[in-house]
Amino acid sequence: MDFVLTIALVALALAALAYPLYRAHAQAVTVNASTLDDLLAERDGVYATLRDLELDRQLGKLDAADYNALHEKYMTRAAQILQELDTLRGEGAGEEAGAEIEKEVAALRQKTTDGGRRTASKQDQDAGKKELRCANCGRPYNAGDKFCARCGRALH
Ligand SMILES: [Zn+2]
Repeated sequence: MDFVLTIALVALALAALAYPLYRAHAQAVTVNASTLDDLLAERDGVYATLRDLELDRQLGKLDAADYNALHEKYMTRAAQILQELDTLRGEGAGEEAGAEIEKEVAALRQKTTDGGRRTASKQDQDAGKKELRCANCGRPYNAGDKFCARCGRALH
């Protein structure tokens, strides 16, 4: 009788130990899922804020110093969120999704920095180099130029 009682008590003790573990596990999964949603929502929020910052800067509501400080702050936050998303997601899917988001951020960064005059004019130059070249000597020229600065050939 004692032996059966002992077995029963041990089984009960094991169940008592296992139950919180089971619950903790179930809760952890739930918490992770909502954290993932939170992170995705926050990421979208940060992206929206970055777009707003860019708009405010273009409208002159933000001066360059304020814009740069805020932009830096939100880009840092976006990077943190991306890292957390990578951590939360599985390795295989996480890498893929992470790469996708990084591309998104890179594109956003490109878009937001394109507003800077230096970047924009440099890009215009690059575009000009690609599209307009003298047919005779290959020297890049600007859209308005009438003659090649190197060989003098008329440009069309
Ligand atoms: Zn030429």
